[in-house]
Amino acid sequence: MTRVKLTSVRTFPHVAPNKPQALKVLEEASETVEACKKWLLADGFQKCNAEQVPADWADAEFNDLMDEIADTIQASCNLAAALGVEDLTPYLARCEERNRHRGRYDE
Ligand SMILES: [Mg+2]
Repeated sequence: MTRVKLTSVRTFPHVAPNKPQALKVLEEASETVEACKKWLLADGFQKCNAEQVPADWADAEFNDLMDEIADTIQASCNLAAALGVEDLTPYLARCEERNRHRGRYDE
């Protein structure tokens, strides 16, 4: 079983429980998808053309993807803070329970 470690996230000041705050999560998630598509292309291209691209090209795409994942987490935490939630632990536990119930951890 793999677990991804997270730290506490410092939220932005002046967050508000409104539509723009919620849309920021969607915007960052969309950027994550685009970054993943670029990484997939770069990785595949690099495998086929190892002598034609800089060695760190896929690494740059990977770092961009990880940055967008982090941005999405930041935006989600900003929204939670705007809603008065400073501890997502019980909500992540509920999420894990839902996924367990749905059989998503079965191998
Ligand atoms: Mg971003």
